[in-house]
Amino acid sequence: MQIQEKKVPHLVILPLPFQGHINPMLQLGSLLHSKGFSITVIHTQTNSPNPANFPNFNFEPIPDGLSDGQASTEDPLTVVSILNDTCQVPFNDTLSRLVSDGPHGPVTCIINDELFHFTKAVADHLKLPRILLCTSSPTCSSIMLSLTLLQQTGAISITEGQPNTLIPEIPPLRIKDIPDFSTTDPDTFERLAENILNAIKSALAYIMNGFDDLDPTALEKVREDRHPTPLFTVGPLYKFSPGASNSLITQDHSCMAWLDKQPPQSVIYISFGSVASIDKTELEEIAWGLANSDQPFLWVVRPGSINGDDWVELPEGFEEKTREKGRIIKWAPQQEVLAHPSVGGFWTHNGWNSTLESICEGVPMLCSPYLWDQNVTARYVSHVWRVGIQLENGFDRSEIEWAIRRLMVEIEGKEMRERVGCLKEIATRSVAKGGSSYESLQSLIDLIMSL
Ligand code: UDP
Repeated sequence: MQIQEKKVPHLVILPLPFQGHINPMLQLGSLLHSKGFSITVIHTQTNSPNPANFPNFNFEPIPDGLSDGQASTEDPLTVVSILNDTCQVPFNDTLSRLVSDGPHGPVTCIINDELFHFTKAVADHLKLPRILLCTSSPTCSSIMLSLTLLQQTGAISITEGQPNTLIPEIPPLRIKDIPDFSTTDPDTFERLAENILNAIKSALAYIMNGFDDLDPTALEKVREDRHPTPLFTVGPLYKFSPGASNSLITQDHSCMAWLDKQPPQSVIYISFGSVASIDKTELEEIAWGLANSDQPFLWVVRPGSINGDDWVELPEGFEEKTREKGRIIKWAPQQEVLAHPSVGGFWTHNGWNSTLESICEGVPMLCSPYLWDQNVTARYVSHVWRVGIQLENGFDRSEIEWAIRRLMVEIEGKEMRERVGCLKEIATRSVAKGGSSYESLQSLIDLIMSL
């Protein structure tokens, strides 16, 4: 499915500057580049991607007005809100220049992260079509739609009931699984959500990073809600574009040689992504839970993730006890790690990219969701797809030890591994010729080519 040579459409992509948003956008850019499109990345100066990783792309930085403190805030929604204000003018200026005299030919279309609603005003002004990439899961998007509706009609109030109370209209979710979007400014989320929804309505297309058979009901719901904006499900994007991620932290590849020496499916890999943080007590509980489980482990402790400290003070005696069994690194080549035959489990915060990567590599999960949509994803992992175990009581060393054993050695873990192996096969089929994501991608290309 290569496009015609005589016409090389030029796409401008704009990622949101968070790791979990940058990766899928650059994967999409790489995928479309491999189909013959010319790609310009307009990006914020904060968390800018490394052009050396994408020698075929053109990069255009724009100032974003974020201070260092704001960029590392634990309130990402406020950052998104600020960026929507500060980026509009520089984005407009850069795009206007590209439209009139860019070396890569006229701009055919913009593809931006759906949370950047300001692009609507710019695209309308420049008369450019706009496509949106949603980086969260179809399941969560559909749950949010149902939830909004249920709240509007007064059918449920999430402030009532115990945290473990099931919400009958959206099983198997409980009150405590409902995402909390509170920010330091209470009006921020409401305003942001309204602007984002308005911007979606007039988009040319809406892209999701998932595959049809994982949760067809959810996709149908999102499709209906986005109508008449057409929905294209083209995931898992990283399977189409392996190696197209852009790590904001240097990945430590030395762990691969260590994995080579471990028995098949014996290692539990632990990483809570690029935003989640824990405190020192939680670190201690995790450390002793791991040590007491007596399983080999590869643990990512991201700099700054323990109460903002740059590096970690591990509990006394831990290193001695786990020297033979464990490895701690600052950042992993995660997709490679999950694909390694020695890895038998993934203890994750259930960010959508991590969850998708785990499913697509056939690795069952231990789930410790941290914020937003991660609770919903964890609940689906444990209770719908049944490929993981959720830790329900935060970080408690006895529960951790027991859960790791259930996942890694007990029959329960074996059954989960079989189920996730089936999902892996379905995901692999979806990106192969004739598969649902492959076909959806072709339809998306046809749409862009028709512009
Ligand atoms: N990742 C990585 N190395 C790590 C941990 C994570 O390369 O040690 C990548 C991972 O493969 C994924 C992204 O960072 O693509 C994290 O995205 P996700 O949506 O899972 O979580 P977030 O960081 O947005 O919370």
